[in-house]
Amino acid sequence: MEKTIFAKILDGEIPTEILYQNERTIVIDDIHPQASIHCLVITKTPYKDISEMDPEDFFYVHDAIKKIAALKAIEDYRVVTNKGPAAGQTVFHLHFHVLGGSELGDINS
Ligand code: 5GP
Repeated sequence: MEKTIFAKILDGEIPTEILYQNERTIVIDDIHPQASIHCLVITKTPYKDISEMDPEDFFYVHDAIKKIAALKAIEDYRVVTNKGPAAGQTVFHLHFHVLGGSELGDINS
């Protein structure tokens, strides 16, 4: 199966600044930011989406979210994961968007 862009980043095939990492995740800036701060917490295990994730990974995702929020000095932020094309998923390697640094629109509108 074709490697996703995130698998290539994790394997060092695409040079990308790693802002933070722990045992099970890395954090990078999104290439097309949707807010003034837009980071991606990417699981090191290539789960396709959240439905495949080992719940124990949440501990590491939570750590990464808190660390990147502190590093970027954002107090308020939104965390989103898209599961499946109809939900807007375009890269099929589990990741969580962390958005902040500016007023975010109403998620329901
Ligand atoms: P999704 O649409 O799957 O929820 O999110 C995928 C995200 O990955 C998008 O926000 C997109 O801008 C970002 N992205 C796609 N390719 C790259 C890349 O090569 N580098 C980085 N840093 N982000 C990427």
